[in-house]
Amino acid sequence: MTIAFRSTRGEAPELSFSRAALRGLAPDGGLYVPTRFPDAEAIQAGSLAEVAERLLAPFFAGDELEPELGAICRDALDFPVPLRSLDAHTRLLELFHGPTAAFKDVGARFLAACFARLDRPLTILVATSGDTGGAIASAFHGRDGIEVGILFPEEGVSARQRAQLTCWDGNVHAFAVRGVFDDCQRMVKAAFADEAWRAAKNLTSANSINIGRLLPQAAYYAHAALAHGRRPSFVIPSGNVGNACAALWARAMGLPIERIVMTANANRPVPDFLADGDWQPRPSVATLANAMDVGNPSNMERVRDLYPEIAALREVVEASSTDDATIRRRIVEARERWGVVLCPHTATAADWRLDRPDGEAVLVATAHPAKFESVVEPLIGESLPVPPQLAELLGRPDRSTTIDAELAALQRALG
Ligand SMILES: *Cc1c(COP(=O)(O)O)cnc(C)c1O
Repeated sequence: MTIAFRSTRGEAPELSFSRAALRGLAPDGGLYVPTRFPDAEAIQAGSLAEVAERLLAPFFAGDELEPELGAICRDALDFPVPLRSLDAHTRLLELFHGPTAAFKDVGARFLAACFARLDRPLTILVATSGDTGGAIASAFHGRDGIEVGILFPEEGVSARQRAQLTCWDGNVHAFAVRGVFDDCQRMVKAAFADEAWRAAKNLTSANSINIGRLLPQAAYYAHAALAHGRRPSFVIPSGNVGNACAALWARAMGLPIERIVMTANANRPVPDFLADGDWQPRPSVATLANAMDVGNPSNMERVRDLYPEIAALREVVEASSTDDATIRRRIVEARERWGVVLCPHTATAADWRLDRPDGEAVLVATAHPAKFESVVEPLIGESLPVPPQLAELLGRPDRSTTIDAELAALQRALG
């Protein structure tokens, strides 16, 4: 029986993987989830691309991309995801060896490799306040028949983030919007609401709720669980909770995973929900771990779809929250204890572990610390070498166009 993708809200037709990825959000406003999880207990260890191909094959059975799955995995997942020992029972899963030095490269590259093999021409529009836009730009750059528009707030991103958004030529266009992130999001929404332009451009989104970004992330959990061998818990710095949801899906497929720990910064809707059973989205607050500044994590809809009963959820999932002062302290402590330099996001996972040293744990390192040098370097008192792939991007010229915060300006600029 093939596996389709259904909406969490149950009011939209089921689609194949490819169609659900092209669609983005389901028409009833829900998120796509698999209709069932295949049993992957017997899956063989191998390279990340090999494990991904084995794990994802049942989801591609009958899909138009089925014959391409191996090529997609090799194309997208061509960088290492090392599992480094911190102590006898603690490891670090480094997901930051891709082109933009954060785990979002995995999902973005997989989605780009899929779209490059589907109906084109396509136009991808994304609003970004940081990491996502760089990963999307890098993943789609040079893909035939796909134009990409990245909208970011002119004043709202760090110098290194800006460089990763604006260094592209050819099919990737970066727009510095005279406004804030919410203006960028409003413009993208308005573009999708303009039916004529949407159809003419074949507009598609690539935001973090896209199933084509989420599902492949289950592959590195499978890869790491198999490599680790002793049924670890994964400790995952979480914002929109997509990364942790992918880990829950890997576990649902029978991989040897004990528990999932979602570590938050000072934005605490998830830990509060697990503590008192009351789901209370709220406005986000700014923290040092800014890619996790999410007050209403959209992927909780998928997590709650998997575990509708809070008691069942609590058996598998744990959550914690770490404030900025503790993030700083744990970066220093991780350096002293384990000899590693962590980014502020990963420091929230270290915070959980340093208080609970029992059992096997894999801490998930979501970004390279050199992306957050202004926070990390003063704490450790030395400068961090920039990974070569990142240094290469940072050395390129800024090719962005500055536009007013209105749809017409975007439409003129994109032609
Ligand atoms: C996006 C991001 C996160 C949060 O991941 P979610 O899937 O949104 O929970 C954590 N760390 C870094 C570095 C990120 O870029």
